[in-house]
Amino acid sequence: MSMVSVVACRSYDPAAVRRAVRAVLAPLGGIGRFVRPGMQVLLKPNLLTATDPERAVTTHPAVVGAVAALVREAGGEVWIGDSPASPGESRPRFWRGSGMADVAAQTGARLIPFDGVVWKRLNSNDYFIARPVLEADLVIDLPKLKTHVLTLYTGAVKNLFGAIPGTRKREVHLRSPGVQDFSRALVDVLELVRPGLTIMDGVLGQEGDGPGVGGTPHRYGCLAASTDPVALDAVVAGAMGYRSGEVLHLAEAGARGLGEANPEAVRVEGERRALDFGELRLPRARWYFRIPGWVGVPLRRATRLRPRLVASACVGCGRCAEVCPCEAITPGKPLRFDLERCVGCLCCAEVCPQGAIEPRRNLLARLIGI
Ligand code: SF4
Ligand code: SF4
Repeated sequence: MSMVSVVACRSYDPAAVRRAVRAVLAPLGGIGRFVRPGMQVLLKPNLLTATDPERAVTTHPAVVGAVAALVREAGGEVWIGDSPASPGESRPRFWRGSGMADVAAQTGARLIPFDGVVWKRLNSNDYFIARPVLEADLVIDLPKLKTHVLTLYTGAVKNLFGAIPGTRKREVHLRSPGVQDFSRALVDVLELVRPGLTIMDGVLGQEGDGPGVGGTPHRYGCLAASTDPVALDAVVAGAMGYRSGEVLHLAEAGARGLGEANPEAVRVEGERRALDFGELRLPRARWYFRIPGWVGVPLRRATRLRPRLVASACVGCGRCAEVCPCEAITPGKPLRFDLERCVGCLCCAEVCPQGAIEPRRNLLARLIGI
């Protein structure tokens, strides 16, 4: 039976986080169960884009630092790696802005850019996975607890999509239009990466239209850990108010036998009360999942999510255009969307530093009342 450990942790005070990380790992056997002296251990935080950690977009440096220190204590060599969603983001700015440069200086960890890739083929699709992810002796997944405009929830499984570096992510978005296809791709990446341990930063997460700055920081006040990332996500998503099966990539992962997607079938250890999140604001795009299966693929396609610009908030930085897999955005002020080309991946909303792009229902969806 899969097990998820949960502890309360209300602040990022470094000493409190170190205590909480030890406590959350205790029911799993402690770090020594996973790390042996000399092992190369890759920590994979969620570093979507370099933003102030208080915006709750990225895994907090206090959590990454506490895990890095524990791995060192167990004799492991620590690597910290991720690639930003926006390919134009400069590397020094990325490491500095995310707080990882400080973590490396304090713990002796190595910052690993996700440059070289290894080609993998799964379910008739090509994936290019960052070489360090496959070369490390152990991958520790360090997701952030957030909502997501497209996939509704982003946690342990979704964080692994960062194992595909920079512009290679666009290829996946391009061939996986719509949330159903994209969810299957996320599960393919889980199958290829298979982290040995997951520790989630749920101290300060997001509600509303995450996972970028469009989301609203929310103090969940917890850390969660498991060897089964699907079970961890299922338990946390359930505590947020999602129905079992509503988060498609978790349902898919469960169906493929990659983890336990039914929160009722997971043993929760530690401070279960830390999962009492109360009423939350879930993504507005949740309506999309109310489209019944019988309406079929064409109607789902016709009602696909589209981006909408909040022109008053846009500063014309062009990051959305850089990340768009379909070249459907013409930069400028105001920028323009070519909705004929758009596949509705909402990567543009994810990277916008101003929260100036929202998901919107198209006319057909509004007319039929979805
Ligand atoms: S415009 Fe936005 S939602 Fe549409 S394909 Fe480009 S990045 Fe994705
Ligand atoms: S919508 Fe956002 S990402 Fe795009 S140009 Fe405007 S501020 Fe930049």
